[in-house]
Amino acid sequence: MATVTKPLKAQLAEVGYAPQDITYLALSHCHWDHTANANDFASATWLVRQEERDAMFTQPPAFARCLTPETFGALKNSKTVILKTDEYDVFGDGAVIIKSAAGHTPGHQVLFLKLRKAGPVLLSGDLYHYPEERAQHRVPKTDFNRDQTAASRAAIEAFLKKTGAQLWIQHDFTANAKLKKAPAYYD
Ligand SMILES: [Zn+2]
Repeated sequence: MATVTKPLKAQLAEVGYAPQDITYLALSHCHWDHTANANDFASATWLVRQEERDAMFTQPPAFARCLTPETFGALKNSKTVILKTDEYDVFGDGAVIIKSAAGHTPGHQVLFLKLRKAGPVLLSGDLYHYPEERAQHRVPKTDFNRDQTAASRAAIEAFLKKTGAQLWIQHDFTANAKLKKAPAYYD
């Protein structure tokens, strides 16, 4: 499911930003439905794990299904920071943390946000696709490394418990429908 009614650039413009204003770019992973606008942000500093970057630019790219270089190819020349630790604190204040959650793809990662009013939130990437997967422990057959996905899920579930963060599953159509949409925002 990947239907948008308004392109990202138009949504950004509504809140007063152009792609060149963006300092950092991080993708949860390299699949097409998560990379569509990536080339627009090639002037940002790209925060990525080595395994994911390798999966994106190794030829042939069949490995991990990073098959849409037309959406992310420009990142090859972006200023890049390779993330090597389990957690990467983007601004050094604990408000935006990228966490490793490998398995769906080799360098899959999730995003933790500590919002002043909305509280702690974790964006799932494709660690899960549906809320039912959490209780039923179902890992998609197409994941790059299913054991790794299971281990990442266990670590992230423990993290959710520790932080009290809400989990936003990005492919969860029903839950997503209830979230605010740009130009509205969470802070
Ligand atoms: Zn995916």
